[in-house]
Amino acid sequence: MDFSIFERVGLSLFAVLLVLSCFSCLDTSAQIGLVDPDRVMRHVERMVSYGPHPSGSEAQKKVEIYIVDQLQSYGLEVHTQTFQPVTPLGRPEMTNIWGVLPGNRESVIILASHYDSKYFEDFPFVGANDSGSSSALLLELARTLTQGNSTDYSLWFAFFDGEEAVADWTSADSLYGSREFVQMLKSRGLLHRISALILLDMIGGKDLVLRKEMNSTSWLNQIIWDQGNQLGFGDIFQMRGYTAAQDDHLPFAEEGIPVVDIIDLDYAYWHQREDTADKLSAENMGIVGDVVLASLPEIAKRLDTDD
Ligand SMILES: [Zn+2]
Repeated sequence: MDFSIFERVGLSLFAVLLVLSCFSCLDTSAQIGLVDPDRVMRHVERMVSYGPHPSGSEAQKKVEIYIVDQLQSYGLEVHTQTFQPVTPLGRPEMTNIWGVLPGNRESVIILASHYDSKYFEDFPFVGANDSGSSSALLLELARTLTQGNSTDYSLWFAFFDGEEAVADWTSADSLYGSREFVQMLKSRGLLHRISALILLDMIGGKDLVLRKEMNSTSWLNQIIWDQGNQLGFGDIFQMRGYTAAQDDHLPFAEEGIPVVDIIDLDYAYWHQREDTADKLSAENMGIVGDVVLASLPEIAKRLDTDD
């Protein structure tokens, strides 16, 4: 075969277009296996190894340093916010952490988890699922998305302190970190940049069942549960029934920000001594991560239509 120069240029252009269109399908098509379940499990084991780590404890400081180190190792810019709220047990020092991945636009999608473990007087509670699993997955999502952000949005990976009640859950004794974070965004004039919040909590159980959460924004629920089912995980992302949670998404929802809480409230060892790493499934944590990754471009598309 012999091609004239014009035909060769035409063919090369065609080849380039083919390659380009392939890249764009890679960006938008849902893939599984991007999240490494073993890495997630290793993060859980590391955080649990520090022992019970309620807000203000020495162990919580170690978890904080671990999270900051990991985020920095992915090349993210890391911010912290330290505060001392009034609680039924004095004024413990708490720290929110967030890693920033700048996007093509200023608008931000926050992916979040709490990283404190609830304090129990009677027994040691390490909180492998609550809050180890979600914090571990959030670290792995940060690593994965740093290698390729499938949206134009800036992404913040936020680790809230003080989600748990210091004594008994009330609107005043809970959600210390997320409430403080929203106040900070307000006072710095940054709240308008936040387009959506995706919250993870207790997503690592072996019998993981996730139902849409009632205080979450319905279109966000719909996108994530649809993706879960399309990827073949309908046994985890149950389309029937709802759950309702008081969680770190509420301070954002009160400001009118679209929010979703992905939470398993049926976890058998919730707030029990037995919430340890051996009760978790690396595979399930990986699945939740892949579903979140697959949902992100869809969420961005939907946010674009609201602009
Ligand atoms: Zn809890």
